[in-house]
Amino acid sequence: MMVSPILEEQPMSAKKQRPRIYLPKTISETSAITAPQLDLSHLTLNSTLADLPTHAFQVSAETSAILVATEFDAQPDLPGVIVMQNDKILGVISRRRFMEQIGRPYGIEVYLYRSIQVMLEATGTNSLKLPGACTIHFAAEIALRRKFSFLYDPIIVEFPDKSLRLLNSYTLLLAQSQLLNLVYQVEQSRRQLAESLEKTGRILSSSLNLQEVTARILVELAHVVSYERGLIMLKKGTVLQKIAQRGFPPHLYQQELTVPIQTNREDVFQRIVATQKPLLVDNVRYEPGWQQLEGLPLDHSWVGVPLVVQNQVIGLISLTRREPYAFRADDVLVVQTFAGQAVIALENARLYDEIMQFKNQLEGMVSERTEELNKAYATLAQLDKTKSDFIKVSAHELRTPLTVVKGYAQVLASDEALQSSAQTKMVLDGMLSGVDRLYQIVNDMLDIAKIDSNALRVHPESVVLAEMIQHLGHKLHKSLQDRSLNLFLHNLETLPAVYGDSDLLLKVFHGLLVNGIKYTPDGGAITVSGREVWVNGRSFVEIKISDTGIGIDPAKQELIFEKFYQTGELALHSSGYTKFKGGGPGLGLAIAKGIVLAHNGRIWVESEGCDEQTYPGSHFYVHLPTS
Ligand code: ADP
Repeated sequence: MMVSPILEEQPMSAKKQRPRIYLPKTISETSAITAPQLDLSHLTLNSTLADLPTHAFQVSAETSAILVATEFDAQPDLPGVIVMQNDKILGVISRRRFMEQIGRPYGIEVYLYRSIQVMLEATGTNSLKLPGACTIHFAAEIALRRKFSFLYDPIIVEFPDKSLRLLNSYTLLLAQSQLLNLVYQVEQSRRQLAESLEKTGRILSSSLNLQEVTARILVELAHVVSYERGLIMLKKGTVLQKIAQRGFPPHLYQQELTVPIQTNREDVFQRIVATQKPLLVDNVRYEPGWQQLEGLPLDHSWVGVPLVVQNQVIGLISLTRREPYAFRADDVLVVQTFAGQAVIALENARLYDEIMQFKNQLEGMVSERTEELNKAYATLAQLDKTKSDFIKVSAHELRTPLTVVKGYAQVLASDEALQSSAQTKMVLDGMLSGVDRLYQIVNDMLDIAKIDSNALRVHPESVVLAEMIQHLGHKLHKSLQDRSLNLFLHNLETLPAVYGDSDLLLKVFHGLLVNGIKYTPDGGAITVSGREVWVNGRSFVEIKISDTGIGIDPAKQELIFEKFYQTGELALHSSGYTKFKGGGPGLGLAIAKGIVLAHNGRIWVESEGCDEQTYPGSHFYVHLPTS
């Protein structure tokens, strides 16, 4: 029985156009950003054959070869013919093989007027059949592995519905190479996107200037999504205000650009706010909520991607393209990624602004406070000077009458008649010791005035401190005895001599020993020890004067070296020079510090604190240079 050939027409697109390869939809939609690795195993014959020219030219074994020849002639694209017998594939005869057989000597006579089966038997039945689920890649590999003589014969593709189609090997190879090219392109664009994002990341960290960063985001975006005009806009009340733009005509470039947000629900921005999702308009002409900006040519395609911060739409990235249907879903995804970057830039810039504002505020406050402090300092310095001047003047003024009083007291003391009366003698002794004490205070006042006005003159010489301190020990023997205090001197003889003014240094150690006596309860001890120390390569003698007295509060350990700072009880002042806790004018340590500093030395105190129950004691240290 003769079976008429089953000739199926291919869709026009496949016939007329050059073969095109599409990625399966799932991949193309997510391509550049979230795409899994572009996997050739996704690209099966099934999924792509719609775009490849395939043919279903089947004939039965008995069909006359002339009929086949006529079809080959009518359809230059036909790659071959499937020869069937009772639903069984007998084999495939390719156009090339058919023409070869016919072209042989007597080929026409032998084959053309006989059934096609004759030719099939002569050429062999090595036909390759592949299922539609087979990948293009795999199909190409199998097709190429065939024996050389069959290499370029079409292969049969069997679809899930069992229908059969012939696919030309050339087309298959072309499809494969186009696929590879596509893979390469996708890889390229993915790399470009990664590079752009990486660059944008760098821009973000390199600048905090909002305008600059957003403008550069638009530049980078243009490398991966082509667009005519781009805008980054922020919502300010009821309008959108431009912060960055690209591709705008020069007259609009410098200008402030604002777009009112319309209240109707069709407004594109309203829709973006409501959904917090990007909006893709394929043709703005048919978009009821579209507002065309004045002075701009009409671009038909539009993408708006929201800038979302903490679930609030604060603005958008808007891109346009001249022709309709220009943006793809992939593009929207890419813009979304850049929108994420823009949001970071906005947040950074906002935080930076806040910090700058805070910093300016702080700077303002600091300079205000500094000015106040400077004023207060100037007032204090002025007051201090007035005080120093007063001390100096009064000390000078006191000295003259004091000398007179002292002279007369001495005259009276030398009178033997007066000395013979015990009562008068006591009065005269009291007068003389009072005058001495006053002299000492006046001298202290003059010393402090000199120190304050930097008028203290040091006349240095070699001074053996051991001798000086022993001498002071003798001088204070009576006071020590009165208070049952022990004075221990340690390791002073071995010390090198210091280079200093002996009169001034005598005042320093006298003051420190007297303080030791004053602030140590009866029965205590004062120990003076020494050693040589090296500070910054220079030799110093360190004298340490320790007592077993009341100690000094750490908070006051610097203050006590200021003039007039004293905690002694004034009530005890006049009762005796070395009375326990007897108050003084508070000048001793200030003078000692002034003298030690004038020697390029150092003086300080260490004490655990002030405690009149446990008597932790104090340790005064003095460093004096040896040369
Ligand atoms: P004054 O002894 O005249 O009060 P100083 O300048 O000599 O003045 O001393 C200042 C203050 O330092 C004293 O009032 C006292 O509070 C504290 N001070 C000095 N030496 C000692 C010491 N060895 N132990 C405890 N406190 C002391």
